[in-house]
Order: sequence, then structure tokens, then C-alpha cells
Amino acid sequence: MADNHIDPAAGAQVRADDRAHVFHSWSAQAHIDPVPIAGAQGSWFWDYDGNRYFDLGSQMVNVNAGHGHPAIVEAICEQARILPTISPAFGNDVRGELARLIAERAPGDLDKVFFTNAGAEANEHAVRMARVVTGRSTVLSMYRSYHGASGTTIGLTGDPRRWRAEPTGGDVVRFFGPYPYRSPWATDSVEAEAAAALAHLRMVVELQGPNSIAAIIIETVIGTNGVLVPPPGYLAGVRELCDEYGIIYIADEVMVGFGRLGEWFGVNAFGVTPDLITFAKGVNSGYVPLGGVVIGSRVAQHFDDVPYPGGLTYSGHPLACAAGVASIKAFEADGVIDRVRATGEDLIRPTLSKIAANHPSVGEIRGMGFFWAIELVRNPETREGLVPFNASGPDAAPMAELIAACKAKGVWPFTHFNRIHVAPPLTTSDDELTDALAVIDEVLDLAD
Ligand code: PLP
Repeated sequence: MADNHIDPAAGAQVRADDRAHVFHSWSAQAHIDPVPIAGAQGSWFWDYDGNRYFDLGSQMVNVNAGHGHPAIVEAICEQARILPTISPAFGNDVRGELARLIAERAPGDLDKVFFTNAGAEANEHAVRMARVVTGRSTVLSMYRSYHGASGTTIGLTGDPRRWRAEPTGGDVVRFFGPYPYRSPWATDSVEAEAAAALAHLRMVVELQGPNSIAAIIIETVIGTNGVLVPPPGYLAGVRELCDEYGIIYIADEVMVGFGRLGEWFGVNAFGVTPDLITFAKGVNSGYVPLGGVVIGSRVAQHFDDVPYPGGLTYSGHPLACAAGVASIKAFEADGVIDRVRATGEDLIRPTLSKIAANHPSVGEIRGMGFFWAIELVRNPETREGLVPFNASGPDAAPMAELIAACKAKGVWPFTHFNRIHVAPPLTTSDDELTDALAVIDEVLDLAD
């Protein structure tokens, strides 16, 4: 077997084991054929036949540091030699160091960290904290949101992934967030959209009964549901509304935290301080599963004398925390966060704008940092989507054709409904970005 593990016979065995025994997420098991992956490095991964793919979506928008980052790999190996696991009941050097590094980068009084193993668990615990602290039960979440696939979090989720998991119960009320391109209020400016969305949220809060509402949970920039960047003033307005009614503001930064938006935490770009921020994915690029809740003083102080009702065997797992410490230090040393912010504006935005100008099928491009969506339409005037909402099977054929064309040209796209998302590793070079976006430009001819 070659160093990069390219070996078609080995690939055939991986595929056979997978098809026989692995039960996959979100899938009708008899209708999938996952590509066996042999290895990955930087912004690229490859299969056992030697086909190389540019990772346009950083897997699940989690591999912020790129694949095989040497400092992170080395930190995990070193930690495995020293102390691979220890109960969370003990103190532990890397867990404490990572909590400090996170607290130093979080806004305002968010100073404590509860570690989980993933994003859904982080949101589970944030909601539990909010309910215990306020003594209230209802949680408000947005339509067009994703918060995880566990019991509470699939119930919070405001997209079709929830439908087949119903009944989810759990005292959740959904509201509309701002979406200027498809405004629920038919506004004609981002300012008007922010004002209309805030008036709508206030109405939901007041009619639902403010004294029953424990929390409002919002993805700082909506992720899989469209890279919806909140218009100026919206998140600040949410903060004010929460303050007015004693509601806990939970910022779900599972997808956008740790650099994706060109900030350590996305809320830093919008000048707001939530009560709780949840994170996972980018904290250590998923080399070892890790998530958590960054906790502000209102919630933290509640548990000074009252025990917190929750815990996890692997909370603050040393291998995961060592990877997190190494990742933050590497990003800091290499100036990754500043480069992401600058490259988003100086390279990605202008390139996507040119692509939009080339193709009538591009309805809108939007995003910031290394987090963008290209929304595709059948008709730019009516804004009818290239495929219908939640399309599958033959209805989704125009997107399936684009996806296949991207892969054939060595770019593995992250797509959702009628959008191509651009969210590569934050370590991707300018040349790699330019080449990958040139492929998108080419294949979009198919959609015009
Ligand atoms: N919240 C957001 C915004 C996400 O994008 C995701 C996953 O994509 C989650 C929560 C759930 O995270 P996990 O899959 O790690 O449980």
C-alpha cells in the first residue's frame, strides 16, 4: 500500500464492510453508497482509487484547521502518552488551559466553560441551564435553523430534518428570522428587515407569555439553512428584548465559532454578548469530538451554591482539549482569524460577485469570512428556487447535476436545497480558493 493509502482493493473492502454493517446518519440505508476515503491533508481528501477532492465544505463545516494539521496531531499524540483519559471530576491541565483560552476570547462576562462531546449536547445543556436558572420552560427557536439531532435539539430545529423525528415535544415555539432575499415581511432594505424581524419576535414573546420563556436560541449566522447573516441591529435588538423580559439569550455558534466568520466568536462581529454561547466543530476541527457551552455570569452564579443537574463521562476529554489548545495556539501564531476576515472581503466576496454576474441562475451570494452561500434560482425575477424547497428525487435533479459536475472536477461541494455553500478550511491558500471557485463558475453554466 502506498503512503497515501491509495489501493482500490482496500477501498472495495471498506465499501463492503460499510454497506454490510454501518448504519448511516439521515439516510435511507439501501439508497446510499458512501465513497470510502483513504486519507486527507490540508484542504484535500482522496479516495482509494486516487481521486482527489478539494474540501469546499470542510466536511461538515468543522475542519477549520484543515486535515492533518501537524501541531494538532502532535498534541493529541503527546497527550495520549501523558494522560489519555481521566474522569471530569478531577482537575486537568489541558482542560483548564482550553477553558481559559476560550474565556479570554469570548465577549463580556462569559468566563466559564462546560465541555461536551458535540454541538447537540452543548445546546441540550444550554437549554437545561436556561430552564433551571429561569424556572421557565418554553424555548423560542427560528424557522430555518439547525441545532442538533438529539432529543431536545432536533425539537428546536426549524427545518425539515425535524419532521420525521416528530413527535419531539419539549415546549418549543418557532419564529421567523431576517432573510432579506426572501423576506417574510416583504421589506426592501436590510434595515427594514431587521426592524420587521424584531417587531415580529416581540409579538411572539408577548403573545406567548414572557414569563414562560426560558430562552431564545439563535445561530449567530444561520448555517445549513442558508448562511443568513443577520442585518445590522438585529442581534442587538434580540439582546435588548431578552433583557427586558429576563430571557436567556443562547447563541448557537457550533458552526460559526472559532474563526469561520473571521472572529473567534461570531457575536464579536455584531457587538453583542449573549448569556450562553454553544460551540463544537471548529474548536479543534473535530480531530477528537468536542463541544461546549461558554457561560456568562447570570447563569454561572446561579450554580455557585446550587448543584448543576448534568454531567458527561467524557466532559473535557484530555485528547479533545489538547487538540483544542493546539488549534487555538496555531491559529493565533499564524494570524488565521485576521486572514479569514480579510480574505472573505478581498477575495471571496469579489470572486463570488463576478460569478453572480456571469450566471443568471445565481439569485444571491451572501456571507462573511470563510462562510458563504450561492443561492440558485430558476428565475431571477420571481426568485423561484432552482429546485423546490426540500426537493428530493427527480425534483432535485438540477442540483444533483451540479454536485456531480463539481465532483468530476475535483471539488467536493457542501450543498443544501438550492444553494452551494463555500466554507473551506480556514487554512486554504488564495490559489486553492481561486481554483475551487473557478470550478464553481464553470459548472454553474449547467444551471443557467
Ligand atoms: N448547531 C449548529 C448550528 C450546527 O450546525 C450543528 C451541526 O451541524 C449542530 C448544532 C449539531 O452539532 P453536532 O452535529 O456536533 O451535534
